[in-house]
Amino acid sequence: MTESADEPKNTKHVVIVGGGFAGLHCARKVAANPDVRVTLVDRHNYQQFQPLFYQVATSLLSAGNIAFNLRSTLMRHPNVDVKLAEVVSVDLNSHTVHTAQGGEYQGDYLVLAAGSEANFFNTPGAAEHTFPLYSLHNAESLRSRILAMLESADADNSLIDKGALNFVIVGAGPTGAEMSGAFADVLLSWKERKAVHKVFWDLPLDRAQVFLVDAGPAVLGAFSSKAQEYAARTLTQRGVQIRLRTKVTEVGEAHVTLSDGTRIPTHTVIWAGGLKASSISGNLGLKTGRGGRIDVEADLTVPGVSGVYALGDFANIPGKDGQPLPQLGSVAEQSGKWCAKNILLDVAGKPREAFRYLDKGIMAMIGRDAAVAEVGEHRHEVEGAIAFAAWLGVHAALLSSTIAKIEAFMEWAWWYFGGARDDVVLDRSEELQVNWHEDTEERAEAVKQLQDAGQSRTG
Ligand SMILES: Cc1cc2nc3c(=O)[nH]c(=O)nc-3n(C[C@H](O)[C@H](O)[C@H](O)COP(=O)(O)OP(=O)(O)OC[C@H]3O[C@@H](n4cnc5c(N)ncnc54)[C@H](O)[C@@H]3O)c2cc1C
Repeated sequence: MTESADEPKNTKHVVIVGGGFAGLHCARKVAANPDVRVTLVDRHNYQQFQPLFYQVATSLLSAGNIAFNLRSTLMRHPNVDVKLAEVVSVDLNSHTVHTAQGGEYQGDYLVLAAGSEANFFNTPGAAEHTFPLYSLHNAESLRSRILAMLESADADNSLIDKGALNFVIVGAGPTGAEMSGAFADVLLSWKERKAVHKVFWDLPLDRAQVFLVDAGPAVLGAFSSKAQEYAARTLTQRGVQIRLRTKVTEVGEAHVTLSDGTRIPTHTVIWAGGLKASSISGNLGLKTGRGGRIDVEADLTVPGVSGVYALGDFANIPGKDGQPLPQLGSVAEQSGKWCAKNILLDVAGKPREAFRYLDKGIMAMIGRDAAVAEVGEHRHEVEGAIAFAAWLGVHAALLSSTIAKIEAFMEWAWWYFGGARDDVVLDRSEELQVNWHEDTEERAEAVKQLQDAGQSRTG
Protein backbone atom coordinates (compact mmCIF):
# COMPACT_ATOMS: atom_id res chain seq x y z
CA MET A 1 0.00 0.00 0.00
CA THR A 2 2.95 2.35 0.49
CA GLU A 3 3.14 4.49 -2.61
CA SER A 4 6.07 4.16 -5.01
CA ALA A 5 7.87 7.36 -5.97
CA ASP A 6 7.97 6.91 -9.73
CA GLU A 7 6.91 10.45 -10.66
CA PRO A 8 9.14 12.73 -12.78
CA LYS A 9 12.07 14.15 -10.79
CA ASN A 10 10.97 17.82 -10.57
CA THR A 11 7.35 17.13 -9.69
CA LYS A 12 6.35 18.33 -6.24
CA HIS A 13 3.93 16.16 -4.34
CA VAL A 14 1.14 17.62 -2.18
CA VAL A 15 -0.70 15.32 0.22
CA ILE A 16 -4.10 16.66 1.30
CA VAL A 17 -6.07 15.14 4.19
CA GLY A 18 -9.80 15.82 3.69
CA GLY A 19 -11.81 16.47 0.54
CA GLY A 20 -14.31 18.97 1.97
CA PHE A 21 -14.66 22.61 0.95
CA ALA A 22 -11.07 23.42 1.93
CA GLY A 23 -9.23 20.32 0.67
CA LEU A 24 -11.14 20.13 -2.59
CA HIS A 25 -10.59 23.77 -3.52
CA CYS A 26 -6.93 23.47 -2.59
CA ALA A 27 -6.54 20.33 -4.75
CA ARG A 28 -8.22 21.91 -7.77
CA LYS A 29 -6.16 25.06 -7.67
CA VAL A 30 -2.79 23.53 -6.92
CA ALA A 31 -3.34 20.86 -9.61
CA ALA A 32 -3.75 23.56 -12.24
CA ASN A 33 0.06 23.57 -12.18
CA PRO A 34 1.25 20.48 -14.12
CA ASP A 35 4.52 20.44 -12.14
CA VAL A 36 2.63 19.44 -9.02
CA ARG A 37 0.86 16.19 -8.28
CA VAL A 38 -1.68 15.74 -5.52
CA THR A 39 -2.82 12.84 -3.39
CA LEU A 40 -6.16 13.62 -1.74
CA VAL A 41 -7.01 11.25 1.13
CA ASP A 42 -10.54 11.15 2.52
CA ARG A 43 -12.46 8.57 4.53
CA HIS A 44 -15.38 9.08 2.14
CA ASN A 45 -15.26 8.92 -1.63
CA TYR A 46 -17.48 11.97 -1.80
CA GLN A 47 -17.60 15.60 -0.80
CA GLN A 48 -20.58 16.35 1.42
CA PHE A 49 -22.38 19.67 1.32
CA GLN A 50 -23.06 20.22 5.02
CA PRO A 51 -25.28 23.32 4.81
CA LEU A 52 -28.01 21.19 3.23
CA PHE A 53 -27.86 18.23 5.66
CA TYR A 54 -30.98 19.42 7.43
CA GLN A 55 -32.90 19.25 4.14
CA VAL A 56 -31.85 15.61 3.70
CA ALA A 57 -32.92 14.90 7.29
CA THR A 58 -36.36 16.39 6.60
CA SER A 59 -36.72 14.70 3.19
CA LEU A 60 -36.60 17.86 1.11
CA LEU A 61 -33.49 16.73 -0.74
CA SER A 62 -32.00 13.30 -1.20
CA ALA A 63 -28.43 12.25 -0.42
CA GLY A 64 -27.56 12.36 -4.14
CA ASN A 65 -28.37 16.09 -4.22
CA ILE A 66 -25.70 16.98 -1.69
CA ALA A 67 -22.89 14.43 -2.00
CA PHE A 68 -20.47 14.45 -4.91
CA ASN A 69 -18.01 11.76 -5.89
CA LEU A 70 -14.49 13.13 -5.42
CA ARG A 71 -13.02 11.23 -8.37
CA SER A 72 -15.70 12.57 -10.74
CA THR A 73 -15.36 16.08 -9.33
CA LEU A 74 -11.60 15.99 -9.92
CA MET A 75 -11.53 13.99 -13.14
CA ARG A 76 -10.36 16.96 -15.20
CA HIS A 77 -7.16 16.94 -13.14
CA PRO A 78 -5.11 13.89 -14.12
CA ASN A 79 -2.43 14.93 -11.61
CA VAL A 80 -4.81 14.39 -8.66
CA ASP A 81 -5.07 10.91 -7.17
CA VAL A 82 -7.94 10.28 -4.74
CA LYS A 83 -7.44 7.68 -2.01
CA LEU A 84 -10.30 6.39 0.11
CA ALA A 85 -8.76 5.91 3.55
CA GLU A 86 -9.05 7.04 7.16
CA VAL A 87 -5.96 8.93 8.30
CA VAL A 88 -5.06 7.87 11.82
CA SER A 89 -1.69 9.49 12.40
CA VAL A 90 0.59 12.05 10.87
CA ASP A 91 4.35 12.64 10.98
CA LEU A 92 4.54 16.39 10.52
CA ASN A 93 8.30 16.50 10.04
CA SER A 94 8.40 14.01 7.16
CA HIS A 95 4.95 15.08 5.82
CA THR A 96 3.73 11.49 6.04
CA VAL A 97 0.21 10.34 6.81
CA HIS A 98 -0.66 6.83 7.97
CA THR A 99 -4.06 5.31 7.35
CA ALA A 100 -6.19 2.79 9.23
CA GLN A 101 -5.98 0.59 6.13
CA GLY A 102 -2.16 0.40 6.43
CA GLY A 103 -1.39 2.96 3.72
CA GLU A 104 1.25 5.66 3.94
CA TYR A 105 1.44 8.83 1.84
CA GLN A 106 4.41 11.15 1.95
CA GLY A 107 4.61 14.52 0.23
CA ASP A 108 6.79 17.61 -0.17
CA TYR A 109 3.84 19.52 1.26
CA LEU A 110 1.15 18.38 3.66
CA VAL A 111 -2.28 20.02 3.87
CA LEU A 112 -4.50 19.21 6.85
CA ALA A 113 -8.15 19.91 6.02
CA ALA A 114 -9.98 17.24 8.03
CA GLY A 115 -12.89 19.48 9.10
CA SER A 116 -14.84 19.13 12.32
CA GLU A 117 -17.09 16.84 14.30
CA ALA A 118 -19.70 17.22 17.04
CA ASN A 119 -18.58 18.52 20.42
CA PHE A 120 -20.83 17.12 23.13
CA PHE A 121 -19.09 19.09 25.92
CA ASN A 122 -19.12 15.93 28.07
CA THR A 123 -22.91 16.07 28.40
CA PRO A 124 -23.90 12.68 29.85
CA GLY A 125 -25.66 10.50 27.27
CA ALA A 126 -25.31 13.00 24.41
CA ALA A 127 -22.81 10.96 22.39
CA GLU A 128 -24.89 7.80 22.77
CA HIS A 129 -28.41 9.09 22.34
CA THR A 130 -28.41 12.20 20.16
CA PHE A 131 -28.31 12.70 16.41
CA PRO A 132 -25.48 15.03 15.46
CA LEU A 133 -25.62 16.61 12.01
CA TYR A 134 -22.04 16.55 10.78
CA SER A 135 -22.07 13.85 8.11
CA LEU A 136 -24.29 12.52 5.39
CA HIS A 137 -24.65 9.35 7.44
CA ASN A 138 -25.92 11.48 10.37
CA ALA A 139 -28.46 13.22 8.15
CA GLU A 140 -29.75 9.94 6.72
CA SER A 141 -29.98 8.32 10.16
CA LEU A 142 -31.95 11.28 11.44
CA ARG A 143 -34.32 11.12 8.48
CA SER A 144 -34.94 7.44 9.23
CA ARG A 145 -35.50 8.17 12.91
CA ILE A 146 -38.05 10.90 12.14
CA LEU A 147 -39.87 8.55 9.80
CA ALA A 148 -39.64 5.71 12.36
CA MET A 149 -41.27 7.98 14.96
CA LEU A 150 -44.10 8.88 12.59
CA GLU A 151 -44.65 5.20 11.75
CA SER A 152 -44.55 4.17 15.43
CA ALA A 153 -46.97 6.89 16.52
CA ASP A 154 -49.27 5.99 13.64
CA ALA A 155 -49.25 2.32 14.61
CA ASP A 156 -49.87 3.07 18.30
CA ASN A 157 -51.11 6.55 19.28
CA SER A 158 -50.26 5.91 22.93
CA LEU A 159 -46.57 6.25 22.00
CA ILE A 160 -47.14 9.97 21.53
CA ASP A 161 -47.30 10.26 25.34
CA LYS A 162 -43.93 8.53 25.40
CA GLY A 163 -42.41 11.24 23.23
CA ALA A 164 -42.76 9.75 19.74
CA LEU A 165 -43.69 13.14 18.29
CA ASN A 166 -41.41 15.26 20.49
CA PHE A 167 -38.35 16.56 18.66
CA VAL A 168 -35.66 18.37 20.63
CA ILE A 169 -32.94 20.42 18.94
CA VAL A 170 -29.94 21.36 21.05
CA GLY A 171 -28.15 24.53 19.96
CA ALA A 172 -29.81 27.62 18.48
CA GLY A 173 -27.04 28.60 16.06
CA PRO A 174 -27.68 28.46 12.30
CA THR A 175 -27.84 24.64 12.19
CA GLY A 176 -30.30 24.40 15.09
CA ALA A 177 -32.42 27.30 13.86
CA GLU A 178 -32.57 25.85 10.34
CA MET A 179 -33.42 22.41 11.66
CA SER A 180 -36.22 23.66 13.93
CA GLY A 181 -37.60 25.84 11.13
CA ALA A 182 -37.70 22.79 8.86
CA PHE A 183 -39.47 20.75 11.56
CA ALA A 184 -41.97 23.57 11.99
CA ASP A 185 -42.64 23.52 8.24
CA VAL A 186 -43.15 19.76 8.07
CA LEU A 187 -44.95 19.06 11.34
CA LEU A 188 -46.40 22.25 12.76
CA SER A 189 -47.46 24.44 9.86
CA TRP A 190 -51.00 23.81 8.75
CA LYS A 191 -50.12 24.34 5.08
CA GLU A 192 -47.21 21.90 4.87
CA ARG A 193 -48.61 19.39 7.31
CA LYS A 194 -51.11 18.54 4.60
CA ALA A 195 -48.33 16.71 2.72
CA VAL A 196 -47.61 14.50 5.75
CA HIS A 197 -51.33 14.03 6.35
CA LYS A 198 -51.73 12.69 2.82
CA VAL A 199 -49.60 9.68 3.73
CA PHE A 200 -50.19 9.53 7.51
CA TRP A 201 -53.87 10.49 7.33
CA ASP A 202 -54.72 8.98 10.73
CA LEU A 203 -51.83 10.50 12.70
CA PRO A 204 -52.70 13.33 15.16
CA LEU A 205 -49.92 15.65 14.04
CA ASP A 206 -51.35 18.46 16.17
CA ARG A 207 -49.74 16.64 19.10
CA ALA A 208 -46.23 17.03 17.63
CA GLN A 209 -43.89 19.29 19.63
CA VAL A 210 -40.60 20.87 18.57
CA PHE A 211 -38.22 22.29 21.20
CA LEU A 212 -35.17 24.45 20.54
CA VAL A 213 -32.83 24.60 23.53
CA ASP A 214 -29.74 26.77 23.98
CA ALA A 215 -27.55 27.72 26.92
CA GLY A 216 -27.07 31.21 25.48
CA PRO A 217 -29.45 34.17 25.55
CA ALA A 218 -30.44 34.27 21.85
CA VAL A 219 -31.31 32.33 18.73
CA LEU A 220 -28.60 32.85 16.06
CA GLY A 221 -26.04 34.21 18.53
CA ALA A 222 -23.59 35.36 15.82
CA PHE A 223 -26.19 37.62 14.14
CA SER A 224 -27.40 41.14 14.99
CA SER A 225 -30.04 41.53 17.70
CA LYS A 226 -32.61 42.47 15.02
CA ALA A 227 -31.97 39.21 13.14
CA GLN A 228 -32.04 37.27 16.42
CA GLU A 229 -35.43 38.73 17.32
CA TYR A 230 -36.80 38.03 13.83
CA ALA A 231 -35.63 34.40 13.99
CA ALA A 232 -37.01 33.81 17.50
CA ARG A 233 -40.32 35.49 16.67
CA THR A 234 -40.75 33.55 13.41
CA LEU A 235 -39.93 30.20 15.00
CA THR A 236 -42.26 30.87 17.94
CA GLN A 237 -45.11 31.91 15.63
CA ARG A 238 -44.59 28.66 13.74
CA GLY A 239 -44.97 26.65 16.92
CA VAL A 240 -41.37 25.96 17.99
CA GLN A 241 -40.95 26.06 21.79
CA ILE A 242 -37.73 27.97 22.43
CA ARG A 243 -35.88 27.47 25.73
CA LEU A 244 -32.98 29.93 26.02
CA ARG A 245 -30.48 30.26 28.89
CA THR A 246 -31.16 26.58 29.40
CA LYS A 247 -28.62 23.77 29.20
CA VAL A 248 -29.18 20.16 28.35
CA THR A 249 -27.80 18.40 31.40
CA GLU A 250 -28.37 14.79 30.39
CA VAL A 251 -29.78 12.75 27.52
CA GLY A 252 -31.29 9.28 27.97
CA GLU A 253 -32.72 6.71 25.59
CA ALA A 254 -36.18 8.19 25.94
CA HIS A 255 -35.82 11.65 27.42
CA VAL A 256 -33.74 14.77 27.72
CA THR A 257 -33.21 16.69 30.95
CA LEU A 258 -32.79 20.47 31.00
CA SER A 259 -31.00 22.65 33.54
CA ASP A 260 -34.33 24.11 34.75
CA GLY A 261 -35.34 20.60 35.77
CA THR A 262 -37.68 19.96 32.84
CA ARG A 263 -37.60 16.42 31.53
CA ILE A 264 -38.90 16.01 27.99
CA PRO A 265 -39.87 12.53 26.81
CA THR A 266 -38.33 12.11 23.36
CA HIS A 267 -36.50 9.64 21.14
CA THR A 268 -35.19 12.27 18.74
CA VAL A 269 -32.64 14.72 20.12
CA ILE A 270 -30.67 16.56 17.45
CA TRP A 271 -27.27 17.80 18.53
CA ALA A 272 -26.36 21.12 16.93
CA GLY A 273 -24.72 22.25 20.15
CA GLY A 274 -21.12 22.75 19.08
CA LEU A 275 -18.24 21.45 17.07
CA LYS A 276 -14.56 20.72 17.46
CA ALA A 277 -11.77 19.78 15.09
CA SER A 278 -11.84 16.30 13.61
CA SER A 279 -10.35 13.85 16.14
CA ILE A 280 -7.11 13.40 14.21
CA SER A 281 -6.03 16.85 15.51
CA GLY A 282 -5.29 15.14 18.82
CA ASN A 283 -2.77 12.78 17.14
CA LEU A 284 -0.49 15.40 15.63
CA GLY A 285 1.73 15.99 18.64
CA LEU A 286 0.79 19.68 18.54
CA LYS A 287 -0.73 21.83 21.24
CA THR A 288 -4.19 22.54 19.87
CA GLY A 289 -6.10 25.80 20.24
CA ARG A 290 -9.77 26.65 20.71
CA GLY A 291 -12.11 23.81 19.68
CA GLY A 292 -9.17 21.40 19.34
CA ARG A 293 -8.20 23.25 16.16
CA ILE A 294 -4.69 23.98 14.93
CA ASP A 295 -3.60 27.59 15.41
CA VAL A 296 -2.01 28.62 12.13
CA GLU A 297 0.14 31.53 10.99
CA ALA A 298 -1.32 34.26 8.79
CA ASP A 299 -0.07 32.41 5.69
CA LEU A 300 -1.96 29.24 6.85
CA THR A 301 1.19 27.29 7.74
CA VAL A 302 1.47 25.30 10.96
CA PRO A 303 4.04 27.00 13.22
CA GLY A 304 7.26 25.14 13.97
CA VAL A 305 7.19 22.75 10.99
CA SER A 306 7.96 23.53 7.38
CA GLY A 307 5.68 22.71 4.45
CA VAL A 308 2.60 21.91 6.55
CA TYR A 309 -0.68 23.82 6.23
CA ALA A 310 -3.97 23.59 8.17
CA LEU A 311 -7.21 24.92 6.70
CA GLY A 312 -10.95 25.37 7.03
CA ASP A 313 -12.75 24.01 10.09
CA PHE A 314 -9.58 22.19 11.14
CA ALA A 315 -7.69 25.41 11.86
CA ASN A 316 -7.96 28.60 13.86
CA ILE A 317 -7.22 31.04 11.04
CA PRO A 318 -6.54 34.57 12.25
CA GLY A 319 -8.82 37.24 10.80
CA LYS A 320 -8.10 40.97 10.42
CA ASP A 321 -8.54 41.59 14.15
CA GLY A 322 -6.36 38.61 15.06
CA GLN A 323 -9.39 36.64 16.29
CA PRO A 324 -10.02 33.24 14.64
CA LEU A 325 -12.38 33.29 11.66
CA PRO A 326 -15.65 31.35 12.09
CA GLN A 327 -16.19 27.78 10.86
CA LEU A 328 -17.90 28.61 7.57
CA GLY A 329 -17.92 27.13 4.09
CA SER A 330 -16.65 30.43 2.66
CA VAL A 331 -13.66 30.50 5.04
CA ALA A 332 -12.86 26.89 4.14
CA GLU A 333 -13.15 27.48 0.41
CA GLN A 334 -11.09 30.66 0.40
CA SER A 335 -8.41 29.21 2.69
CA GLY A 336 -8.17 26.16 0.37
CA LYS A 337 -7.53 28.36 -2.65
CA TRP A 338 -5.09 30.55 -0.73
CA CYS A 339 -3.14 27.56 0.52
CA ALA A 340 -2.76 26.36 -3.08
CA LYS A 341 -1.50 29.79 -4.06
CA ASN A 342 1.09 29.75 -1.24
CA ILE A 343 2.27 26.24 -2.13
CA LEU A 344 2.78 27.33 -5.74
CA LEU A 345 4.64 30.47 -4.55
CA ASP A 346 6.83 28.22 -2.40
CA VAL A 347 7.50 25.88 -5.35
CA ALA A 348 8.48 28.92 -7.43
CA GLY A 349 10.86 30.06 -4.66
CA LYS A 350 8.78 33.17 -3.91
CA PRO A 351 7.59 34.36 -0.47
CA ARG A 352 4.18 33.19 0.78
CA GLU A 353 1.41 35.73 1.36
CA ALA A 354 -0.81 36.29 4.40
CA PHE A 355 -4.39 35.02 3.91
CA ARG A 356 -6.95 37.75 3.25
CA TYR A 357 -10.54 36.65 3.87
CA LEU A 358 -13.22 38.28 1.75
CA ASP A 359 -16.21 38.44 4.10
CA LYS A 360 -19.40 38.14 2.04
CA GLY A 361 -21.63 37.94 5.12
CA ILE A 362 -23.69 35.29 6.89
CA MET A 363 -27.17 33.88 6.39
CA ALA A 364 -29.57 31.42 7.94
CA MET A 365 -32.81 29.84 6.75
CA ILE A 366 -35.73 29.86 9.19
CA GLY A 367 -38.25 28.04 7.01
CA ARG A 368 -40.60 28.69 4.13
CA ASP A 369 -40.38 32.36 3.05
CA ALA A 370 -38.28 33.20 6.12
CA ALA A 371 -34.54 33.69 6.37
CA VAL A 372 -32.03 36.26 7.57
CA ALA A 373 -28.99 37.47 5.69
CA GLU A 374 -26.31 39.91 6.78
CA VAL A 375 -24.57 40.86 3.58
CA GLY A 376 -20.91 41.88 3.30
CA GLU A 377 -18.40 42.97 5.86
CA HIS A 378 -20.73 45.77 7.03
CA ARG A 379 -23.56 43.30 7.60
CA HIS A 380 -26.34 44.96 5.62
CA GLU A 381 -29.39 43.12 6.91
CA VAL A 382 -32.14 41.47 4.86
CA GLU A 383 -34.90 39.26 6.24
CA GLY A 384 -38.07 37.48 5.14
CA ALA A 385 -38.90 36.27 1.65
CA ILE A 386 -36.04 38.14 -0.08
CA ALA A 387 -33.49 36.59 2.25
CA PHE A 388 -35.19 33.22 1.72
CA ALA A 389 -34.75 33.49 -2.07
CA ALA A 390 -31.17 34.71 -1.61
CA TRP A 391 -30.39 31.75 0.68
CA LEU A 392 -31.61 29.28 -1.95
CA GLY A 393 -29.65 31.06 -4.70
CA VAL A 394 -26.40 31.25 -2.72
CA HIS A 395 -26.55 27.63 -1.59
CA ALA A 396 -27.39 26.35 -5.07
CA ALA A 397 -24.47 28.36 -6.46
CA LEU A 398 -22.12 26.69 -3.98
CA LEU A 399 -23.06 23.19 -5.17
CA SER A 400 -20.24 21.69 -7.16
CA SER A 401 -21.81 20.99 -10.57
CA THR A 402 -24.39 22.51 -12.88
CA ILE A 403 -26.52 19.39 -12.76
CA ALA A 404 -26.50 19.49 -8.93
CA LYS A 405 -27.66 23.12 -8.99
CA ILE A 406 -30.50 22.35 -11.45
CA GLU A 407 -31.62 19.29 -9.48
CA ALA A 408 -31.66 21.19 -6.18
CA PHE A 409 -33.73 23.97 -7.73
CA MET A 410 -36.18 21.44 -9.15
CA GLU A 411 -36.62 19.77 -5.73
CA TRP A 412 -37.09 23.16 -4.06
CA ALA A 413 -39.65 24.18 -6.72
CA TRP A 414 -41.63 20.93 -6.18
CA TRP A 415 -41.65 21.61 -2.47
CA TYR A 416 -42.39 25.35 -2.65
CA PHE A 417 -45.17 25.20 -5.21
CA GLY A 418 -46.51 21.68 -4.67
CA GLY A 419 -45.57 20.91 -1.06
CA ALA A 420 -43.91 17.69 -2.25
CA ARG A 421 -41.07 16.03 -0.36
CA ASP A 422 -38.96 12.98 -1.11
CA ASP A 423 -40.89 9.72 -0.99
CA VAL A 424 -39.00 8.32 1.97
CA VAL A 425 -38.33 4.64 2.38
CA LEU A 426 -37.57 3.45 5.91
CA ASP A 427 -34.58 1.31 4.98
CA ARG A 428 -32.78 1.64 8.34
CA SER A 429 -35.08 -0.47 10.43
CA GLU A 430 -32.69 -0.11 13.39
CA GLU A 431 -34.15 3.38 13.88
CA LEU A 432 -37.43 1.70 14.88
CA GLN A 433 -35.69 -0.14 17.73
CA VAL A 434 -36.24 2.33 20.53
CA ASN A 435 -36.89 1.60 24.16
CA TRP A 436 -40.44 2.73 24.76
CA HIS A 437 -40.36 1.49 28.35
CA GLU A 438 -37.53 3.61 29.77
CA ASP A 439 -38.54 5.91 32.62
CA THR A 440 -41.95 4.34 33.10
CA GLU A 441 -42.44 5.88 36.57
CA GLU A 442 -40.98 9.24 35.65
CA ARG A 443 -42.80 9.49 32.37
CA ALA A 444 -46.15 10.47 33.83
CA GLU A 445 -44.46 13.29 35.75
CA ALA A 446 -42.63 14.46 32.59
CA VAL A 447 -45.82 14.47 30.53
CA LYS A 448 -47.60 16.39 33.30
CA GLN A 449 -44.78 18.97 33.41
CA LEU A 450 -45.09 19.50 29.66
CA GLN A 451 -48.86 19.79 29.80
CA ASP A 452 -48.63 22.30 32.66
CA ALA A 453 -46.02 24.31 30.73
CA GLY A 454 -48.25 24.28 27.62
CA GLN A 455 -51.24 25.48 29.67
CA SER A 456 -49.32 28.31 31.30
CA ARG A 457 -48.07 29.48 27.86
CA THR A 458 -51.52 29.49 26.31
CA GLY A 459 -53.35 30.59 29.45
C1 LIG B 1 -25.18 21.15 9.53
C2 LIG B 1 -24.21 22.21 9.04
C3 LIG B 1 -24.69 23.32 8.38
C4 LIG B 1 -23.81 24.30 7.92
N1 LIG B 1 -24.31 25.40 7.25
C5 LIG B 1 -23.44 26.31 6.75
C6 LIG B 1 -23.93 27.42 5.99
O1 LIG B 1 -25.14 27.57 5.78
N2 LIG B 1 -23.01 28.30 5.48
C7 LIG B 1 -21.66 28.13 5.69
O2 LIG B 1 -20.86 28.94 5.20
N3 LIG B 1 -21.18 27.09 6.40
C8 LIG B 1 -22.04 26.20 6.93
N4 LIG B 1 -21.56 25.14 7.65
C9 LIG B 1 -20.11 25.04 7.88
C10 LIG B 1 -19.38 24.48 6.68
O3 LIG B 1 -20.07 23.35 6.19
C11 LIG B 1 -17.97 24.11 7.10
O4 LIG B 1 -17.35 25.29 7.57
C12 LIG B 1 -17.17 23.54 5.96
O5 LIG B 1 -17.73 22.32 5.52
C13 LIG B 1 -15.72 23.29 6.40
O6 LIG B 1 -15.02 22.76 5.32
P1 LIG B 1 -13.75 21.86 5.58
O7 LIG B 1 -13.22 21.48 4.24
O8 LIG B 1 -12.85 22.54 6.53
O9 LIG B 1 -14.30 20.58 6.32
P2 LIG B 1 -15.35 19.49 5.81
O10 LIG B 1 -16.22 20.05 4.76
O11 LIG B 1 -15.95 18.95 7.04
O12 LIG B 1 -14.42 18.39 5.14
C14 LIG B 1 -13.53 17.63 5.91
C15 LIG B 1 -13.26 16.35 5.15
O13 LIG B 1 -12.24 15.63 5.86
C16 LIG B 1 -12.55 14.25 5.88
N5 LIG B 1 -11.90 13.66 7.04
C17 LIG B 1 -12.05 14.00 8.35
N6 LIG B 1 -11.27 13.25 9.12
C18 LIG B 1 -10.60 12.41 8.31
C19 LIG B 1 -9.63 11.38 8.51
N7 LIG B 1 -9.20 11.08 9.74
N8 LIG B 1 -9.17 10.71 7.44
C20 LIG B 1 -9.61 11.01 6.19
N9 LIG B 1 -10.51 11.97 5.94
C21 LIG B 1 -11.00 12.67 6.98
C22 LIG B 1 -14.07 14.22 5.95
O14 LIG B 1 -14.57 13.01 5.44
C23 LIG B 1 -14.45 15.41 5.07
O15 LIG B 1 -14.66 15.04 3.73
C24 LIG B 1 -22.42 24.15 8.13
C25 LIG B 1 -21.94 23.03 8.81
C26 LIG B 1 -22.82 22.06 9.26
C27 LIG B 1 -22.30 20.85 9.97
